[in-house]
Amino acid sequence: MTRDPRYDVLFEPVQIGPVTAKNRFYQAPHCNGMGRTFPSSMAAMRGVKAEGGWAVVSTEQVEIHPSTDFTPATESRFWSTQDTPYLARMCDAVHEHGALASIELCHNGMMAPNLYSREVPIAPSHIAKAHQGTPLQARAMTRADIRDFRRWHLDAAKRARSAGFDIICCYAGHNLTLPGSFMMSRYNTRTDEYGGCLENRVRLFREIVEETKDAVGDSMGVIIRFSVDELSGSGGLEANKEGREIVEMLAELPDLWDVCLADWDNDSQTSRFSEEGYQEPFIEFVKQVTSKPVVGVGRYTSPDRMVANINRGLFDMVGAARPSIADPFLPKKIEQGRIEDIRECIGCNICVAWDNMTAPMRCTQNPTNGEEWRRGWHPERIASKKTDGQLLVVGAGPAGLEATLAAAQRGHDVILAEASDELGGRVSLESRLPGLSAWARVRDYRTYQISQLANVEIYRSSPMTPKDVLEFGAQHVAIATGARWRTDGYGRHHEHPIPGSDSPQVLTPDEIMSGVRPTGPVLVYDDDHYYMASVIAELLIENGNSVILATPNPEVAAWTHFTLEQHRIQARMLELGVRVITSHGLASIESTGVTLSCIYSAKQQSVEAASVVMVTSRLPEDALYQQLMSDRDKLQTAGIETIKAIGDCYGPATIAAAVYEGHRFARELGETVDEIPFQRELTELSTTFELP
Ligand code: ADP
Ligand code: SF4
Repeated sequence: MTRDPRYDVLFEPVQIGPVTAKNRFYQAPHCNGMGRTFPSSMAAMRGVKAEGGWAVVSTEQVEIHPSTDFTPATESRFWSTQDTPYLARMCDAVHEHGALASIELCHNGMMAPNLYSREVPIAPSHIAKAHQGTPLQARAMTRADIRDFRRWHLDAAKRARSAGFDIICCYAGHNLTLPGSFMMSRYNTRTDEYGGCLENRVRLFREIVEETKDAVGDSMGVIIRFSVDELSGSGGLEANKEGREIVEMLAELPDLWDVCLADWDNDSQTSRFSEEGYQEPFIEFVKQVTSKPVVGVGRYTSPDRMVANINRGLFDMVGAARPSIADPFLPKKIEQGRIEDIRECIGCNICVAWDNMTAPMRCTQNPTNGEEWRRGWHPERIASKKTDGQLLVVGAGPAGLEATLAAAQRGHDVILAEASDELGGRVSLESRLPGLSAWARVRDYRTYQISQLANVEIYRSSPMTPKDVLEFGAQHVAIATGARWRTDGYGRHHEHPIPGSDSPQVLTPDEIMSGVRPTGPVLVYDDDHYYMASVIAELLIENGNSVILATPNPEVAAWTHFTLEQHRIQARMLELGVRVITSHGLASIESTGVTLSCIYSAKQQSVEAASVVMVTSRLPEDALYQQLMSDRDKLQTAGIETIKAIGDCYGPATIAAAVYEGHRFARELGETVDEIPFQRELTELSTTFELP
């Protein structure tokens, strides 16, 4: 296949100071939960992106000194040359595929809690702001501290050059950096030459960019990453006020501008709350005030949109973090004219959530993400099958679809049997809920890929019984029959059935998703704490119900802090007129409503409701699997060599987990798998170990 000439512009080189990016694809810095803790995983993940065609591959934030220690987050770290080997490994992996390696040098200033280094955080002024609300304060920097910080940055830049990096990214974004905090009058109350007027507040950042250019700018690109707007109106930086003035002041200084929104929750908005290109109105001005190349981000997966933005002069390079995670080969696929093969990011922020939980990131769309080194999984290549025989996959949700696709790619003949007439399982159902339409991409990518393979047959409207499976004659069977929401109220807070939960007015999300619409006031009870309760509440508001959302947690959808959505969800509930009752368990359900009980005081209150939607936890839909497993002799007689339950039918979890389980099943089919199924990264003992 050849590339569509409309996309030629995307493959033009871009000059970044003394270095040249081979095309316009720029993998923006992104955290990944690997960093210094899982350095081989991090390096391999970046290398795969370079192989996939990204011209610039960036690190995540890289801490430059013990006074910027973001523990427990696992970012990268470059405090000294002791850190050089793993960062050099990343550079090598990136260079192997002709891409440029960029390092985002970071000092988190007042945000760094320094839990490991135990340094007192530093800031322009005395301020209590540390990450996760840690009870400590940053101290105001003296002029000597400022000189030290400039030296640390410079030294880190020199170390980065020695490690092999091609680009230094000077970072003042996301309300996360020391130079950024100097720019904000709300943090900077200094009266010296680093405080007061905007020019003074920008001075420190200007100095570090200038000093970096002087030291390494002859051989390295020196770029700026800057957040132009905080989306908090006059209470924060605004793109049409100081955000723009700062870019104007420094316009020609860097070799490239990488511009975005702050904080991270505004920069990495989910598809529930924003469309592709949501940052465009805020960065429009940048190219008007600088002649240097500009990078913009906004969950871009459409090559037409990328081209349109380049042609209209919005930016010169397409920045992407999440789209590069979901499909590391996105540029290559456009280059090769394989647009329909792009695995488009669904904007769910599972990747962000795992990083926020300080675990290696995972991706809903790309099950190989994070597994490149430790399992040797490549996003585009898979080993040929090691065993013969047909595979029967029962259930076409995300687990079944992914198992089918990956097994067929290995060369297995696969039959996919689905009870309903629609493929996609929970993804199809949930993508019809308010705000979740982009999630259908999980189904659409897989059904299209499967349709291109000659060795898969799909049977719709085919509910399989144990007898059907035994008579089928397949040697390998994957049961991917999903899960159902519980009605009894058993969840995270409630560890027992709730009295009255067997009443007819109790509904589950499954019933709502299958089209049941209650009348009158509805109480949505959330003991799940992810997205489901709030999207059901939204749907019922659209349906004309008055809605009460009650939860034992002090906040609505508390887990979505990890996906950066919590405040948006709570705000949406309030905007829609949902009555929110937090910190209350569900004591009982009566014919006219419910009794709620305060989780702190046990004080009870009655709430009238005609129906209750119970969003608590799920049970595997595994009767088929259990029945088959109950008679091993029959399995043997039927010639079934492998049988496994996968996805929600094995352990109800996220869609990402179901996709991963499906993929893993296919990868491991016919293989010998060790008890510890992947390579681990171990911290090494010091060679000079002495007790004090
Ligand atoms: P997962 O997330 O694990 O992929 P889903 O709930 O999304 O699970 O999908 C399960 C799919 O399995 C649904 O589409 C459902 O219709 C289908 N299914 C359930 N039981 C059977 C069965 N006995 N035979 C065929 N398909 C089934
Ligand atoms: Fe996109 Fe979700 Fe994958 Fe993150 S986890 S890259 S948001 S699909």
